[in-house]
Amino acid sequence: MRTAICPGSFDPITLGHLNIIVRAAQIFDRVVVCVAANATKTSPMFTVEEKVEMVRRVVAPYPNVTVEVNHGLLAEFARKYEGSVLIKGLRAASDFDYEFQMDLINKRINPELETMFLTADQRYTFLSSSIVREMAHYGGELRGLVPEEIIGVIEAKANTQRG
Ligand code: ADP
Repeated sequence: MRTAICPGSFDPITLGHLNIIVRAAQIFDRVVVCVAANATKTSPMFTVEEKVEMVRRVVAPYPNVTVEVNHGLLAEFARKYEGSVLIKGLRAASDFDYEFQMDLINKRINPELETMFLTADQRYTFLSSSIVREMAHYGGELRGLVPEEIIGVIEAKANTQRG
């Protein structure tokens, strides 16, 4: 069974992430969405439990997609799934530079581990979790940026954080 691992911080999951996950689910037997618990990113908007809950909600319609939390190094996590590959979305040249570096580091830890790239859908090349957080903070329209079913959760969180 071929497993794709879609890693990320998903703070929160966007339609760009979901597009990559669904396309991977059409190519691979199984997709594991791997939510990073220890992302070095400072001050996340959501707790890891909240991120996982949102991802689980939006991938529920896809029977071959599961969600897990990773507390350690991604290259070590991938050993759990023999022959698995990492799937990353590429939006721009800047993503490429970063991902190239990540792949080299991952291979030092786990030489068997391959990374494959899917180009971002043109509708979502501009989209990132940080743009969503910014929009939410200022009460902007989230439709078209994140899955409909989590808009309420994001708006509620932004309201509490605004105080
Ligand atoms: P972000 O970069 O939005 O903070 P993550 O760190 O969670 O998101 O990114 C996880 C993966 O999802 C990375 O491979 C990233 O390139 C990919 N990704 C993020 N946003 C998009 C998008 N709009 N379209 C395609 N891939 C994306």
